[in-house]
Amino acid sequence: MINYILIILPQNFYDMKKNQIFLIIAMASFMIMVSCKQANTPSKQTNNDHLIMSILYHQRAAEYEALCYQSYNLAKQIIDEKIKANPKAKNLAIITDIDETVLDNSPYEASLVIKKYIFPDKWEEWTSLANAKPIPGAQDFFNYAASKGITIFYITNRGTNEKHATIENLKKYDFPFADSLHVMTKDSISSKEIRRNKVRENYNVILYIGDNLADFNDSYLKTSMDYRHQAALEQKDSFGTIYIVLPNAMYGEWESALYNYNYNQNIDSIRRSLLISF
Ligand SMILES: [Mg+2]
Repeated sequence: MINYILIILPQNFYDMKKNQIFLIIAMASFMIMVSCKQANTPSKQTNNDHLIMSILYHQRAAEYEALCYQSYNLAKQIIDEKIKANPKAKNLAIITDIDETVLDNSPYEASLVIKKYIFPDKWEEWTSLANAKPIPGAQDFFNYAASKGITIFYITNRGTNEKHATIENLKKYDFPFADSLHVMTKDSISSKEIRRNKVRENYNVILYIGDNLADFNDSYLKTSMDYRHQAALEQKDSFGTIYIVLPNAMYGEWESALYNYNYNQNIDSIRRSLLISF
C-alpha cells in the first residue's frame, strides 16, 4: 500500500533559518516512517509458534491421515452393522461437525503462525474462499452413508454469514446433502444441543461424528478439564459405537478448558504449568 503525505511548505520557506528547515524535514521523515510502519503491520499481532508442531502433525504426518481413515472405516462398520440389524429402519441420520471433521482448516492455522494473526482474524476471509480440502476418508464415507439411504446433517459453529461459502465448499468436493436445510450453522449460542434436538425430532440419529467432544453432548461444553475427563470416562462405551472422534491437536474446547475459558491471562505460563513431567 502506498501512502501519500502532503507536506505544505510555508510561503516564506526559502527565507527560513536553517534550523527551522531541518525541523520541518525531520518531522516529515518521522511521519513517513510511521505511515510505512502502519501500512505493513496489522493492528494486533501475536506469536503463535506453539501451533507449529500440531499443524505439522495435521499436514505432514501419515499417522494423522491414518487416524482419520481409521475413524471413517469404523464409522462405515457401525452403519453397516446397524442397517444389517434393522434393514427396514427408516429416517436414519448421521450428525457430523464440519471443521477438522469434514473440512481441513490447517492452512488457516498455518497462516496464524506465519502472519501472527489472532484468531478469529481472517477466519471468514479463509472460509469465504470455499477452498478447504476434505479430511481423509470423509468424502467416501458420507457418500457411502447417503447411498444406504442415511440422511446427513452438518451441525457447525460456523456463522450464518459463512453458510453459503460452506455449502459451496462441501459441494466442490461432492459431499452429499450440501444444502441450506442440512448445513445447520450457529445463530447465537455455541451449544449444538438445540440443533441436535431439532434433527432428532424427525430422525433416528445413529452416529455422531466430530473432533470436539462438545459435538456429541453438552457435558464437554464450557466445563472444566476435570469434568471433561470424568464425562469421557462415564461415556467411554459410546466412543467407537455412537460417537466417532477425529483428531484435532490444533485447537478445540480441550484448549479453552486448559485456561478455564479465560484468555485474559498469561496463557504461555499456564501451558507450561500444566505439563506433566517427572
Ligand atoms: Mg470441529
